Amino acid sequence: MEIREIPGGVAALCARLRSAGREAYPVGGCVRDLLLGRTPGDWDVTTSARPEEVMALFERTVPTGIKHGTVTVLTGAGGVEVTTFRAEGGYADGRHPDAVTFGGDLAGDLSRRDFTINAMALGPDGAVIDPFGGRADLKAGLIRCVGEPERRFGEDALRMLRAVRFSAQLDFAIEGATAEALRKSAGLTARLSAERVRAELEKTLLAPWPERGEGLFAWGLLAAFAGPEARPGLTALHRVPARPLERWAALCALLLDGGSIPGAEGFLKALRLDGRTVRACAAGAELFKAMPQTAAGWRRALAERGEDACAAAASMGDALTGGAYTQGLRDMLEEGGCRSVRALALSGGDLLAMGYHGADIGAAQRRLLDHVLDHPEDNRPERLKELLKRNEG
Ligand code: ATP
Ligand code: MG
Repeated sequence: MEIREIPGGVAALCARLRSAGREAYPVGGCVRDLLLGRTPGDWDVTTSARPEEVMALFERTVPTGIKHGTVTVLTGAGGVEVTTFRAEGGYADGRHPDAVTFGGDLAGDLSRRDFTINAMALGPDGAVIDPFGGRADLKAGLIRCVGEPERRFGEDALRMLRAVRFSAQLDFAIEGATAEALRKSAGLTARLSAERVRAELEKTLLAPWPERGEGLFAWGLLAAFAGPEARPGLTALHRVPARPLERWAALCALLLDGGSIPGAEGFLKALRLDGRTVRACAAGAELFKAMPQTAAGWRRALAERGEDACAAAASMGDALTGGAYTQGLRDMLEEGGCRSVRALALSGGDLLAMGYHGADIGAAQRRLLDHVLDHPEDNRPERLKELLKRNEG
């Protein structure tokens, strides 16, 4: 099989390196995606040229990971990561190679990649270079380590989380020996930084087959964060919009429901989630305990707790009860309407002109908002004036 649909910028980049006497191959995820008939998200090229040579050959380059041999070359097709063939040492800490040395070859470079489906390159003639049976595994729908799985997970524990993530993105099974090694080596994930675990978990939660992520718990890859007993059923995530806040909230609800975590806030903070998501999920969990049951109730919740907290609560509700909370909330938001003092049909200036002063203005506005949340149709200047008069009379 030959592949010809490489963007011009990537083809020109490879041609330039080759005319300088170096080898250059599109490699990894982009080859996998082309074979799957998908448009690659980004392009990686592996080359025999050293990073300084790459920087000298192209006009616009960024030394994005120069220590590891990666230079980003800016082309008409966007940034392309160009990485020198590696011939690296051991991985004493299970995270970073002890030393990176250049001067390897394509075969060595491919043998150091994580999975067979990610260990293919494209030759100058468009032929797929596939020494580990990546195409066969793409056809069979399998995630399989290149080489001996236990050793590869020992070198880099992140690969275990990547295995599950790719299986959720592609709806692939994890091949037997690779799965067995996952079970044995799961404890090594405790060495990983929380940020890297979070990034892989988030990609898994957002993937088209998030239920494949159940393996993260079954194999104990997240034991450090959710305990060894957590077994949330992730099929429920399909009921929730595929956006980070909503999916994190749903995961929290599933773990809380199973008694695996004491609270959303601690779980998310341990995973170094951003403050906005942590606050929204914590407030959402509170709101979820007394879920609004009416449109007026949701308007009040939106006014008091904000959109993020309501989105989190709605996602929690949908994950656990299969209700239509997220849809209802979206309809309500599209409807617009008054949910803050700023959106009242009478402004502070209007109230001043009516003779209100100082603290009385704020108090009147809060009274009006309280009324309008239950009666949105009353948010008209005349009607609000009438209400104020009645209130004073
Ligand atoms: P995505 O679509 O998510 O970008 P990808 O396969 O391109 O998928 P990247 O993380 O961008 O994934 O990595 C690019 C390539 O580098 C992979 O296809 C794989 O060949 C190799 N790779 C990345 N991370 C590792 C790792 N931890 N161990 C071994 N090889 C890796
Ligand atoms: Mg990539």
